Amino acid sequence: MRTGLAIILLTVAASAAGCAASGESCGPGCPAWARRYGGAAPEPPDGRVHLVCRDILALSPAPLDVQILGTGEIEAHVWVGHAVFISRGLLAAMDDAELQAVVAHEMGHVLAASSRMQAGLRGCPIGLEAEVEADRVGRDLVKRNGGNPSAMLRMLRKVAASVPADSACERGLRERIRRLNLDG
Ligand SMILES: [Zn+2]
Repeated sequence: MRTGLAIILLTVAASAAGCAASGESCGPGCPAWARRYGGAAPEPPDGRVHLVCRDILALSPAPLDVQILGTGEIEAHVWVGHAVFISRGLLAAMDDAELQAVVAHEMGHVLAASSRMQAGLRGCPIGLEAEVEADRVGRDLVKRNGGNPSAMLRMLRKVAASVPADSACERGLRERIRRLNLDG
């Protein structure tokens, strides 16, 4: 009982703190999570992610909000059934085709058999196989929507270059790039 009440109070406190990523838009636990990435705010319907990724976002079985994370790091996440999160750092680093590949990767998590409630772009420290699957599904989505599937590789190389060299995170990204290359 006490734990439940504490969670409710924490949720209320998070809302009162003014985090734009409210429980309604991305689920329980999300506001506190978003604060680790500089907070989140909804992207207006005429924003770049909406405009560039409309066709891919439309593939989600449940409508996804688009939220922009305040961090300058290159990051993206999806809370399945709620929202896709794109960081300001990512928007600055990626061209439109690469941004489409990012959202397709996140949609890969939504549509993949290994779908989890919450998943990210870097994938670390979460399982490599789920990331490889999301990369492959995402690349197929880009291709089916008339985009250039090689943008998935370019995008992953940029993400790999943005994490500490020789970290577990970088090694995981390099392995994903290698596996995607093997697929042709
Ligand atoms: Zn991922």
